[in-house]
Amino acid sequence: MTIQPFELQTNTTSKPKSIQVDGSRSDHHTYDDSYPFSYHLPHRHTQPDPIAARSNTSVADEYELTDPPVEQPIHPLVELGQHIIYGEHESARENANLNGDSFSGKMSRLGSEYSKWYTEQHMLPAPIAEAVRANRLYIHDLDHYALGTTNCIFIPFERLLCQGFSSGNGSLRTPNSIMTAMAQVAIIFQCQQNSQFGGVAANKLDYDLAPYVTRSFRKHLRKGLHYLGEWHRTAAQSPELQQATADALERLLAGAEMSDARLAKQYPLAYGYALEETRSETFQAAESLIHNLNTMSSRGGGQIPFTSINYGTCTSLEGRLVVESLLAATVRGLGHGETPIFPIQIFKCKRGINQQPGDPNYDLFLKAIDCSSKRLYPNFANLDAPLNLEHVVPGDPDTEFATMGCRTRVIADRFGRNHLSGKGNLSFNTINLVKLGIDYGVHQGLNAEADEHGFRQALDQCMELAAQALLHRYRIQAAQPAKASDFMMREGIWEGGEQLAPDEPVGELLKHGTLSIGFIGLAECMKALYGKHHGEDSHVHERALELIAYMRQACDALSERHRLNFSLMATPAEGLSGKFVRLDRQHYGSIDGVTDREYYTNSFHVPVYYEISAARKIQLEAPFHHYCNAGAISYIELDGNARHNAPAMIRIVQYALEQNISYFSINHPIDRCTACGHEGMIGSHCPACGSSETDVHIARLRRVTGYLTGDYQTRFNPAKQAEVRDRLKHHGETVTQDEHLRLHP
Ligand SMILES: [Zn+2]
Repeated sequence: MTIQPFELQTNTTSKPKSIQVDGSRSDHHTYDDSYPFSYHLPHRHTQPDPIAARSNTSVADEYELTDPPVEQPIHPLVELGQHIIYGEHESARENANLNGDSFSGKMSRLGSEYSKWYTEQHMLPAPIAEAVRANRLYIHDLDHYALGTTNCIFIPFERLLCQGFSSGNGSLRTPNSIMTAMAQVAIIFQCQQNSQFGGVAANKLDYDLAPYVTRSFRKHLRKGLHYLGEWHRTAAQSPELQQATADALERLLAGAEMSDARLAKQYPLAYGYALEETRSETFQAAESLIHNLNTMSSRGGGQIPFTSINYGTCTSLEGRLVVESLLAATVRGLGHGETPIFPIQIFKCKRGINQQPGDPNYDLFLKAIDCSSKRLYPNFANLDAPLNLEHVVPGDPDTEFATMGCRTRVIADRFGRNHLSGKGNLSFNTINLVKLGIDYGVHQGLNAEADEHGFRQALDQCMELAAQALLHRYRIQAAQPAKASDFMMREGIWEGGEQLAPDEPVGELLKHGTLSIGFIGLAECMKALYGKHHGEDSHVHERALELIAYMRQACDALSERHRLNFSLMATPAEGLSGKFVRLDRQHYGSIDGVTDREYYTNSFHVPVYYEISAARKIQLEAPFHHYCNAGAISYIELDGNARHNAPAMIRIVQYALEQNISYFSINHPIDRCTACGHEGMIGSHCPACGSSETDVHIARLRRVTGYLTGDYQTRFNPAKQAEVRDRLKHHGETVTQDEHLRLHP
């Protein structure tokens, strides 16, 4: 008699179509059951029983006594589960900030992969599924499609901190100090992250936190006045006089401001004490915020919340102190001095506020540059770019441009909410421009010249399918009850959500968010269409710009037609850049400069492997920013000496701002010797302690699609590792000799 080995074994006998999903499919949207979508997996016919393989003999021996096992087709989902459980699945590194090897990471992947499978099999309308399968379209965060989760949001911190909030398990009062306020900011980020799958951001954290610096200052001033003897209430006074003195103190404290010169004059000791204590408390608060945002996990899978904070334009002493402290804490680093991965920090650059000597926050801009040279953050947002000026209301910082760290941008709303906080992006789909380029370009050898007409028609189809997919998903999202995104709706993080009953669908409220259509591989698309990419040839650059302008017009037209906010995104393509090219190479073979690398170039970027000056790269990419109203970012790669060359960094950043780049960042490698803590560029040996990379771990920090990641050699997927290897660096010295950058000091 044989022992039935394990359930694992018996399940593998089920055939692809035999697993029935229960009848719980909702009927408020349509799908096509006949669509024969199959899962793409690495090819493996049989799966050795991993348990038997690891044990010594007993179970394996039992097999020997029975008939040889008949090879049965394994259901793709079962095979996928095995890949994840035994740690062989590529999805382990799909997201650079998720530890796919951990228990919680695997648990999360299992749920996620099932959810994708279910969506592909039972939800996606046939033409959309077909476009995905044909590698023309990519649906981001497909694992959240069926649930109707939304993407990202700018959080109205000002209101939450002022009114207090409930995490769901308990309520919090408005903070009375900057220390508590920053702790609450971390809690709010964490709570909100559970309501969405993308980023959570603060669009004006300096303004939001300034009032709590004041509260701390008043608290310290009270102590100072009391203990330093500058406010007297003597026993000799009558009770009435004592009461009057006490009342006067409360009035004084209620109106006390850090910037009040009279306070400094009348109570120099107490004022000096309060100032010093407030500075020290704010720094500690900032340090603990940054530590919290790098250590607390959210969602299944041990993911750190994807947090971004924008700041830099608040000119009050209190707001400035917040920024100064965040920068100082970032430079100081984490426990062992490591570079913090989160939050993504974005310094908002604005002429007249922080761009020239004499501007009130120019000193903060210099500190931001210094911090960026050491820690890669902050990035730089351009408030003066024409695209970002459109909805600015003077005096209302909630209308100032800010961005999710990954680049997502939401300001305009056809329903009038033209401010940032309280809304976000709902979802986005990306078009594979390269495939269209190959089909209609000169590279296949079929056409003597590019078939631009055919290309446009195919692009129109893709745009339409991308829009239909967003609309289909939007209907699923809008049908979800408020309680599904509990914190976000109950606390009104999404503006108006607080008015919904828990079972009420979020419906109409979501119309204020954006539906974004993204694109990838403009460079390879141009190469395939015309034989050159837009960095190589000015005519091709014109064509490329026309193409992106056309896509933006198409998004605007979709907005009119569907009365929703469609926008164009320069896609940050983390897992996607390798997927598209792998499938295209299978189909078309290796095409020079098109499918011959392991990745497609991000959005409209000039390829990282193309040799070009920093200024020229900026000039070529800048005009594209104007059309990408759902967000774009440009990078310049510097070598490891960037950290010692602040003047070069200032020139590059300001040149990018002048060229109207909307969101900008400088990449440079930061290696860290884990033996001695030395940071900088480290080759095979640490220059400080001499350790070899074969003996001690050298952590190599790099940026991937807007986010930093701990060590690119272990956390990046193979396509992104290849891209990092190919990145050509500009040298600090040659940058300052670049004639364009010299002309614009
Ligand atoms: Zn060392």
